[in-house]
Amino acid sequence: MKSLQDPVTKLKGVGPKMAANLATLDIQTVGDLLTYYPARYDDFAPTDLTTAKDKQKVTVAGTVMSEPILSRFGYRRNRLSFRVLVDRNVVMVSFFNQPYLKKQVALNDEVTILGKWEAARQQILGTKLVTKAAEGNDELGAIYPANKHVRQSALRKLVKVAFQQYQDVIATLLPIKLRRRYQLMERRDMIRELHFPHDTSTLKAARRTGTYEEFFLFQLRLQATKLANEQVAGNRILYHNDELKAFIKTISFELTKAQKRVVNEICRDLRRPFEMNRLLQGDVGSGKTIVAAIAIYATINAGYQAALMAPTEILAAQHAAKLAKIFTGTPVYIGLLTGSLKPKQHRQLAAGIKDGSINLIIGTHALISDSIEYANLGLAVIDEQHRFGVHQRQLLREKGNRPDVLAMTATPIPRTLAITTYGEMDVSVIDQLPAGRKPIITRWLRNNQEPTALQFLEEQLAAGAQAYVVSPLIEESESLDVKNAEKLHEKLAKYFAKQYTVGLLHGRLDDDEKQRVMKQFQDGDIQVLVATTVIEVGVDNPNATIMMIYDADRFGLAQLHQLRGRVGRGDRQSYCILIADPKNDEGAERMSTMVATTDGFEVAQRDLELRGSGNVLGNKQSGIPDFKIGDPVGDLKILQLARADAEDLLRTPGWDQRDENQPLVLYLRRHQLETHFD
Ligand code: ADP
Ligand code: MG
Repeated sequence: MKSLQDPVTKLKGVGPKMAANLATLDIQTVGDLLTYYPARYDDFAPTDLTTAKDKQKVTVAGTVMSEPILSRFGYRRNRLSFRVLVDRNVVMVSFFNQPYLKKQVALNDEVTILGKWEAARQQILGTKLVTKAAEGNDELGAIYPANKHVRQSALRKLVKVAFQQYQDVIATLLPIKLRRRYQLMERRDMIRELHFPHDTSTLKAARRTGTYEEFFLFQLRLQATKLANEQVAGNRILYHNDELKAFIKTISFELTKAQKRVVNEICRDLRRPFEMNRLLQGDVGSGKTIVAAIAIYATINAGYQAALMAPTEILAAQHAAKLAKIFTGTPVYIGLLTGSLKPKQHRQLAAGIKDGSINLIIGTHALISDSIEYANLGLAVIDEQHRFGVHQRQLLREKGNRPDVLAMTATPIPRTLAITTYGEMDVSVIDQLPAGRKPIITRWLRNNQEPTALQFLEEQLAAGAQAYVVSPLIEESESLDVKNAEKLHEKLAKYFAKQYTVGLLHGRLDDDEKQRVMKQFQDGDIQVLVATTVIEVGVDNPNATIMMIYDADRFGLAQLHQLRGRVGRGDRQSYCILIADPKNDEGAERMSTMVATTDGFEVAQRDLELRGSGNVLGNKQSGIPDFKIGDPVGDLKILQLARADAEDLLRTPGWDQRDENQPLVLYLRRHQLETHFD
């Protein structure tokens, strides 16, 4: 029996070597190959040159009318030119610096040319040349994301083979009712059209089908997982409401409305006898930590343990210090579990966690190591959850007796999108900053204005402020980052002479050293902290009011927003100073965006526009899957429809008993356990 789950080696002409190459593109099965869709298509529909505008992209097909001539000029530059008869006009075609094309084209050949129309000279600047002989097939157009192991032409050939060999087992997954409602194609036709489009209108229809199908299947998986989870018996965390209220009264500030709302949502979940799986979303500085603290207090009050997992040691240590303060005089006993403990300390701590004498365990991923056993873990909080891998989050969920899970994130993705894409989690949003926060004033200065920036810094320090100074980022090179930070540290230490203390923080310091520096900064013994992006996540020192970032254009918008979020946490006016000479328009756009708004959602929206949703959301950090066809931003409407339809279907009694739904039932059975983190 043939199945789309068959390994690619079942295809004619595919051996272990090619299979290994295909694996580099994440293609293992025939089904993977058939859903490896083109990234784009060259449009081979001919353009009418008589109406073409100057500089317009055009496609023409015709006969080569003159011997192609390759002329060389300048340093390593060359041009291939020839005349082509298109309809009844002769046009000149030139290809620059593609000398190898000379071998592919000759007098009297039938060719298709893509390029840019130059009206004045009645000539086409060619970008792509297609000759019948070179390509040997007519399903042109499709352009696959290839790599050095698997070439474009190989992919084309393989997809064709796969389709020929397997088309009769491509079952349609979408229920007929939905297909009718939206006028969607059969799956086999959709796959054929996506790879070998007949024309632009069938291609469009296929994309519409593909987008809906992809979103629908995704939502069906999420909703099914959610339904299943809701039925998993979980702990009932029955805290004493009066005692919880009394604890909340001891907090030194009044919770915002938004914080109160999410606290209620979380506490309601804690009491229910099901497993909680909740995402807490809130911009940097919106006050997620105190919300977590309240949930932790409730859990411990009910006689359970709670764990708080943070992505870095600095952050874990900071949480431990803050929570120790918040919980003074309560029966909360904190253990800080990091990778840098001595074996003996680790053993003692592990014993306390196992016998329950420690009831709040704070740490890095050390929390999920095998050597740690919990007495009765009731709640697991994951801070900056997008920083953890799938596996780590899952391991924490599986620790102990299925604890309730609260995952926190500052990734500012639009709310509608968050709710739709984190379909299997419940989402709580803190959409308000604490009162009295003054918007951070952001300024963009050029490199040659550095003296002005330093002067400003000096004035602020004189007035009692503390500052972060972030050194330039060298992508992919931690050691260069460190060097940069060290150089900057030296420079500023000299600049401020003995007047102010300048500290240094980077990823290569050992953990004790990092914690010592952070503590000095928190205590005010260090006024200026030069740092790499290690301070990007979560670090909280309300006294710091200045964030100065060198070569700021090297950072992405999300990262800049995170960095800026380190200040503006108290009631004093804060400043963010970006020093940059952007090398391109996009860099300049990013600087202007930062100056124009301090709202994380606006920044995120601009980021989406500048980089495209694929780049922003497709990366692992966002927790949103890399869709193959659909664009969760551009096609949000379809995503919402698909979500509602998936929910409806799952609620229809007996839907999975109907014959026509068999392929869908099988699909779900195979994929249900995959969450969207995969
Ligand atoms: P994030 O959401 O980025 O994790 P934090 O939890 O670190 O933010 O909170 C930022 C700062 O705001 C902390 O110093 C915290 O004590 C303070 N804070 C939180 N909630 C309030 C509030 N309701 N009123 C005043 N300050 C608050
Ligand atoms: Mg935080």
